[in-house]
Amino acid sequence: MKILIAEDQPTAALFLRRNLEKMGHEVAIAPDGETAWQMIRHGEASVLISDWMMPNLDGLELCQRLRTTGCDRYIYIILLTSLDRREDRLQGLRAGADDFLTKPPDQDELALRLEIAERILAVHDQLAQYNLRLAELATTDELTGVKNRRRFREDLDLLFSQAVRHNLPLSLILLDIDHFKQYNDTFGHPAGDQVLQGIGATLRAAVRRHDVVARYGGEEFVVLLPATDAGDAAELAERLRSTIAGRPWPHRTVTASFGVATTDSDIASAAALVDNADRALYQAKQTGRDRIIHFSFAVGFSSRHSLGR
Ligand code: GH3
Ligand code: MG
Ligand code: MG
Ligand code: MG
Repeated sequence: MKILIAEDQPTAALFLRRNLEKMGHEVAIAPDGETAWQMIRHGEASVLISDWMMPNLDGLELCQRLRTTGCDRYIYIILLTSLDRREDRLQGLRAGADDFLTKPPDQDELALRLEIAERILAVHDQLAQYNLRLAELATTDELTGVKNRRRFREDLDLLFSQAVRHNLPLSLILLDIDHFKQYNDTFGHPAGDQVLQGIGATLRAAVRRHDVVARYGGEEFVVLLPATDAGDAAELAERLRSTIAGRPWPHRTVTASFGVATTDSDIASAAALVDNADRALYQAKQTGRDRIIHFSFAVGFSSRHSLGR
């Protein structure tokens, strides 16, 4: 394990380090609490063996800070102390310590306590992995592997406020597969599912890492493009349109209609951005499908101009 010793007495620290290294651990030493805090935050130690009395920040405060401010991983804390009074131990437990050792620690006891630490940390690790997987499942569309609508909402709110704060454009592409009901009716629902998967893969392959691809509804997808202006968004939408229309789908040609919108000073909310893209998409459907319309160029909203096809 990677262990950090926080100890202000060099001899005690070196003695402990030698013992731990003999057991095969990777050990670093911090001479005071403040340094230990920094080393844990920027390092990889998962076990902290901390002295109680130290300059700058004592072991108890270090413990408290680790538990309240938190860390990206669980740190197993063993408080090392010559104090062995009940009151002190209670105080240590309240501060978030996992275990105690009296100074100087007995070699066998140290080894056993570290075995416990290893077991507890393994459980924490497993739990963290499950949570990560759960979070992933809760935000991913099962069929297509792109983000689901819930995650899209969250990302949209975040990216919209970032765009406003940094005065950068944010574009949104909404697309809807053309005559998809007919496709399902003719070739069957599983064949339709394959098309949805293919569209998801096409979208993911076409965008940058920071762009967001999500399934908006049944056969509707949405792409969020941070720091992308109207021209670039329309260009990408056109590329997506022609890629989809040109793909050798198993049964027949598949096309989609696109509505694109970009933030400008008139757009007051993230919802308005979606609404604009939706209205442009509606117009793309009305004017013949397999085409893209950018809201700011759409008929009846502004000057007439349709891009693509
Ligand atoms: P339009 O060009 O106007 O968009 O016509 P459309 O037929 O695509 O639109 P409509 O809204 O009438 O039908 C959408 C179809 O999408 C109906 C529904 O069965 C299909 N669909 C929605 N979700 C899924 C899915 O998860 N799998 C499959 N295979 N089909 C789906
Ligand atoms: Mg000390
Ligand atoms: Mg639809
Ligand atoms: Mg459709």
